[in-house]
Parts: sequence; C-alpha cells; structure tokens
Amino acid sequence: MKVAVFSTKPYDREFLTRANSLLPQPHELVFHETQLNPQSALLAQGCTAVCCFVNDHLDANVLQQLSDLGAKLIALRCAGFNQVDLVAAKKLGIVVARVAEYSPHAVAEHALGLILMLNRNLHRAYHRVRENDYSLNGLLGFDLVNKTVAVIGTGKIGQVFANIMQGLGCRVIAYDPQPSPLLAAKGVSYLALNDIWPTADIISLHCPLNSNTHHLINAERIAQMKNGAMLINTGRGGLIDTPAVIDGLKSKKIGYLGLDVYEEEGDLFFEDNSNRLLQDDVFARLLTFPNVVITGHQAFFTREALTAIADITLANISHFERNELAQMVIVN
Ligand code: NAD
Repeated sequence: MKVAVFSTKPYDREFLTRANSLLPQPHELVFHETQLNPQSALLAQGCTAVCCFVNDHLDANVLQQLSDLGAKLIALRCAGFNQVDLVAAKKLGIVVARVAEYSPHAVAEHALGLILMLNRNLHRAYHRVRENDYSLNGLLGFDLVNKTVAVIGTGKIGQVFANIMQGLGCRVIAYDPQPSPLLAAKGVSYLALNDIWPTADIISLHCPLNSNTHHLINAERIAQMKNGAMLINTGRGGLIDTPAVIDGLKSKKIGYLGLDVYEEEGDLFFEDNSNRLLQDDVFARLLTFPNVVITGHQAFFTREALTAIADITLANISHFERNELAQMVIVN
C-alpha cells in the first residue's frame, strides 16, 4: 500500500524503513518532513494510507482533503489521538488506527527522570560542576521514600509508573474512572479527585486529553494542593492550564514542575528553533523558573519504543490492506 508518512525525522525514517524491509509484502512509504496541515495535505496524493504523529493537524478540513485525494486510513504512530476529529473521519469513512501500547516503560521512566532531576536539582548541579562551582546552596532535595505520589490515569503508563514509585518506597494514591483491580491489590489507594490534591506530595498525569480532562489542572485544583507540591506532566499539554500553573509557581504553591508536553507545543517541539526568536511569552515565562524542567515531548523516545511503534504502525497498515480490521486498534 502507498503510504504518505508525515512529520518524519531521520530516526522515524530509519526505524520505519527497517521494519518495512522485514515485511513479507513491504509498503511503499513516501516520507515527508513537514507536518500534515491544510497546506501540506496535497502531498498525500495517490496514497491510500496517511501515517501521522502527535502534532499533525487532522481536523475536519484536512480529513476532507485527504478523503478527496483517496485516503482510507489514518495510521497514527502514537498512542494519543486527541489531534484527530474522529467524528469527521467516521463520516468520511476514514479508519483511524493507533499504536495502543509500544513502551509504557519509556514514558513512566521519563516521568521518574523528571522527578529526580527536579528533586535533587540535577539540572542546576550539572552546570555548577562544569563552572568549577561545587557549592550546595539551593540544591537541597528530599527523600522520595514515604512520600505520597498521585497517579492520575492508571492505564498502561500509569500502572508502570505506580509500580516504579512503589519500588522507591512511596505511598501511591490514584484517580481513574476505571480503577485497576491489579494496582489496588498491590496497595495503590484509589481516591476521589478532590481528595488527591491535598494529599499528594507529587502528582503525575497519565490520562488522555479529552473534553473531561482539558485543563484538569486549573487554579481551583492548584489552590487545593499541598504547599510546594511537585507536578509532572508527560500526558498531553492541554491537561494543564499553563497560566494558572505559572501563578502557582510564583506563589510557591507549586514547588516543582516537570513537563514533557505543552499545550502550544505544535509550534515549538521536534524542531531546532535555536536561531529563531521565541514568540510564546507563556512558554518563555516557564523557562525562567529554576524549579521547572521541560523536555520536548521525548518521553516515548527510546530504541525499544521506536522499534515497537514502527512494527505496530506497519502491522496496522498491513491488516487494513488485508481487511483484517479486528486485528487493529481502531479509535473511530
Ligand atoms: P491508556 O489508555 O492505557 O490509559 C489511560 C488511562 O486514563 C485509562 O485507565 C483511563 O481510564 C484513564 N482516564 C480516562 N479518563 C480519565 C480521567 N478523566 N481522569 C483520570 N484518568 C482517566 O493510555 P496510556 O498508554 O497509559 O497513555 C496515557 C497518555 O499518555 C496518552 O493518552 C498520551 O496522551 C500520553 N502519552 C505521552 C507520551 C509522551 O511521549 N509524552 C507517550 C505516550 C503516551
């Protein structure tokens, strides 16, 4: 099948090309570096499948263009699908498939990395030592053992994260509309959302972005948090009302903030913008806090995850070609 693959970097091409070469019937992959948007959609001409990533634009207008060009399948090479207008896709008869699970460990371990970096000020210590400065003022951390960690969303990633934090001796509490009996049996306490905020020392977001979770972290919830709480977001940027979090940082209600995602990341992340002026004043303000660490949506970025993403994405396309829809994770 001919596939237009958008938002590709050298690493995407490497992993997808390798996985494709191992298929008994390889697909014709047409790689594009550009994001999919109303201007670039024409590049999908002649392709039955369109392969997309987290910041591609898949609104009704773009989907209509893709449908007019003959596209029948959107093969997402990611787990989240908040970037797709699923109703419009359904109306146009376009199937949307995703990679439900590639490496929950990759994201959960990255969340732990952000916690340790913030708690022990590793980002500041790294620069100090390189400046021949071995002073410890301002680097004081805290033991993680016995701290209360809240996991919001205990699906595949949240469960791995909960296990990791239990392994460090933390008390894990959680909120999920569909609690996991397995985690509960391991001693994770499920609480109502209102009871999470005043109880947690660390809050980590692992739920999908949808109309229920948009700006889940807002001024009202921040006001209920423990003073100096740590907030970690490796889910999706829209889970957080960023200006409210900035106010929380200024008032010291939020003591630490670790982000791998940002609501307006589409204009920033995955590109080298070092020769361009930063136009986003909210993001610029975040960068001024010493107790904020931001990574550019790299939590998924491990060899194991990229291998699985490539394998599952191509398997989805092969299943679609053979009309084996039951074998795919279809979201519309
Ligand atoms: P999953 O579907 O396995 O789990 C999501 C969990 O969230 C489910 O248990 C669900 O019941 C729960 N949930 C739904 N609504 C909720 C709500 N209102 N409040 C609390 N919990 C709610 O998904 P997953 O594989 O664990 O991934 C979670 C999210 O992580 C994805 O949706 C995606 O946005 C994000 N993600 C980020 C990266 C990254 O690189 N930063 C990579 C992969 C996934």
